[in-house]
Amino acid sequence: MIIVFKKDATEAEKNHLYDKITELGLRYQSIIGEELTVVGVIGSEDKIRMLPLEAMPGVDYAMPILKPFKLASLELKEKTIVDVDGVRIGGDEVVVMAGPCSVEGHDMLLEIAEGVRSSGAKVLRGGAFKPRTSPYSFQGYGEEALEYLAEAREKTGLKVVTEVMEPNDVELVEKYADILQIGARNMQNYRLLSRVGESERPVLLKRGFAATVSELLMCAEYILSNGNMNVILCERGIRTFETGTRNTLDLSAIPAIKHQSHLPVIVDPSHGTGKSEYIGSMSKAAIAAGADGLIIEVHNCPEKALSDGEQSLEPDQFVELMDELRPVARAVGRKL
Ligand code: PEP
Ligand code: MN
Repeated sequence: MIIVFKKDATEAEKNHLYDKITELGLRYQSIIGEELTVVGVIGSEDKIRMLPLEAMPGVDYAMPILKPFKLASLELKEKTIVDVDGVRIGGDEVVVMAGPCSVEGHDMLLEIAEGVRSSGAKVLRGGAFKPRTSPYSFQGYGEEALEYLAEAREKTGLKVVTEVMEPNDVELVEKYADILQIGARNMQNYRLLSRVGESERPVLLKRGFAATVSELLMCAEYILSNGNMNVILCERGIRTFETGTRNTLDLSAIPAIKHQSHLPVIVDPSHGTGKSEYIGSMSKAAIAAGADGLIIEVHNCPEKALSDGEQSLEPDQFVELMDELRPVARAVGRKL
C-alpha cells in the first residue's frame, strides 16, 4: 500500500501513522520528496486494511501496489540514485566499476586500482571471498584481501565493491567495503539478502544465472523491506543453450527492469560473455540500452590470473575501452 500525506501534514500526524503501522507489526519506508511525503507500507494485507486511514487528518489518499514486489516498484518512486559517498549510481553519469576478479595480492591490486582510476573508473572491484564452482579452485584471500582493498581506496579515492557470501561475514565486509556485492549464486539466499538489508552499505545485487527479471526484483525486495533502499541491480548473463559464450548477456533486462522499477541497473559484460574480446561491444550496447553503469574485470596479467583471466581486460585495453565508451554515453545523453 502506498500512502500519500497531505502537503501540509504535520510531523505529529506523520509520526502517528508510523506508530500505527509499527503497532500492527507492519513495516514501512517513507520517501520524502520536495513536495510530498509518500509511505510504502508492507506486510499482510489484512493488517494493512486495519490501518484507520480515514481517521488520520494528515493522510491525503492511499492506493494498493499491484505488483508482487512493492518497494522495488515504479509505483512507489520514479528513480533511485544510490549515492556512494559522492559517486552517484543511477544519475546522469555512467559509473564504471573495474578491477580484478579476485584480489590476488597487494601490489597487483594497487597497480590495477591506479590504472583503472586514471582512465575514469569510479569504483574498484575485487573478490576477497570467491564463490567457485569447484571446491579445489582458489577461494580468495578473505580479510587480507579486504585490507588491500581498503588501502587501495585510501591511495586512489576509488570506492570499493566486494562480494559477501554469508550473513556471518557481513559485519566484517562492511567494515572495508563501500558496496556489498551479492553474487549470482547467492541471489536467492534469502537470509543473506535480509542481513544486507539491515546494513548501512549499498548493495549490488547480481542476477542469478537461472533467474527471471521478476525473481531478481523479488530478491531486491528482500533487501529493501529490511530497510536498505540503496540497491543496485546487475545483469551479468543468464544460462541458455548457447555455448559460444560463458553466459548469454540479457541486455533486454535493462529496459525490462526500468519499465518496472526505480532501482539503478548496471551490466557485467565480463561474466556475461566470458571472453575479453566481447567486452567492448557489449559495454557499448549496455550503455546504449540505458545501463547506469558497468562492472568490468581488469587484470595486469590475465593469463596468470587465479580466476577469470580469459574474461579480463589488460589495463591498456581498459584505457582504450573507456575512450570508446565516452562518445556512446554522450550519444544517449549520459556522461562518463
Ligand atoms: C564476480 O563478480 O566475480 C562473480 C563471481 O560474479 P557472479 O556472481 O556474477 O558470477
Ligand atoms: Mn569473476
